[in-house]
Amino acid sequence: MSVFIFIDHSEGHVKKASLEALSYGAALAAQLNTTAEGILLGTLATDPADLGKYGIKKVHQAAQESLNALDAQVDARIIADFISASGDSVLVFSHNTTGKAIAPRVAARCKAGLVTGAIALPDTSNGFVVKKTVFSGKAFANISLNTPVKIIALNPNAYAVKEGQGKAEIMPLTASAPTPKVKVVSATAATGHVPLTEAELVVSGGRGLKGPENWGMVEELASLLGAATACSRPVADAHWRPHNEHVGQTGIAIAPNLYIAIGISGAIQHLAGVNRSKVIVVINKDPEAPFFKAADYGIVGDAFEVVPKMISAVKKLKGK
Ligand SMILES: Cc1cc2nc3c(=O)[nH]c(=O)nc-3n(C[C@H](O)[C@H](O)[C@H](O)COP(=O)(O)OP(=O)(O)OC[C@H]3O[C@@H](n4cnc5c(N)ncnc54)[C@H](O)[C@@H]3O)c2cc1C
Repeated sequence: MSVFIFIDHSEGHVKKASLEALSYGAALAAQLNTTAEGILLGTLATDPADLGKYGIKKVHQAAQESLNALDAQVDARIIADFISASGDSVLVFSHNTTGKAIAPRVAARCKAGLVTGAIALPDTSNGFVVKKTVFSGKAFANISLNTPVKIIALNPNAYAVKEGQGKAEIMPLTASAPTPKVKVVSATAATGHVPLTEAELVVSGGRGLKGPENWGMVEELASLLGAATACSRPVADAHWRPHNEHVGQTGIAIAPNLYIAIGISGAIQHLAGVNRSKVIVVINKDPEAPFFKAADYGIVGDAFEVVPKMISAVKKLKGK
């Protein structure tokens, strides 16, 4: 049984969540006494053989340029054909937007058991049991996979990237890509310094900031920290901020190392998207704001006084 990891990339670079999946897949392969191998559709700006440093021995690459543009139906078909020809195997995706679009399609084609939102290596002592989050991260479930092909979609930020040494062997994956059923007419990349889903640090604002004209301090703090910016849903609904910054149950779910929430009450629907953050800092003038219950650090105070002080402190630390 081999372990295959889908290599998710954008603009020539492998996404951080995918490096986590590669490291996870390599550890799983060691646990199962087998090899970890990547599946790469399209091309990278760097040599794919370098991905060997994340523990994979081979990269199966379908190097058609056309595959650089994500088409979940096409990608799923190629991967499913490859996996079906490979026999019993474990296939690892990251549970990000790409993985969510492709993994279920591959699972359906391969009649594979699929666990989404996995947070730990499987327990293989008696079967194959994968731990995952359920109910927006409020509980855990252990799922037993019994199918010959098993698919795991790993939550971003649930497994640390492990970098070592080594080169992977590149194996051409001769895929007959099916004709796409949809055509992307145009695509506009979201602007912003750091993509939210990839960000290690996030500075987020809510309705407590009163209006879009007050986001300068959020952006300044984020820029000083090298963080992405996010917001609560009412802020995006009011068009104070773009919708791609909206985090929560109906927005993007993120898991950065640090989440700074400014003027956000901490409603359950907001927490559903941010409660996997490693450290949460809450700034709110209401000491009873529910967010303080989920916070690692809380500052009770007016954002318009606290945030400028934080900006000065960070500048001082950075010698700016
Ligand atoms: C089905 C459903 C799905 C939803 N999905 C989402 C979702 O995905 N994401 C999401 O965010 N919400 C979602 N919501 C909305 C959610 O319930 C809350 O209404 C929303 O999160 C509140 O946003 P907020 O905290 O910015 O605003 P508010 O609730 O208005 O809170 C503002 C906070 O700012 C504080 N404040 C005010 N002035 C200051 C100041 N000067 N300094 C410091 N603090 C100050 C206040 O004390 C208050 O706590 C959803 C709701 C429903 C029903």
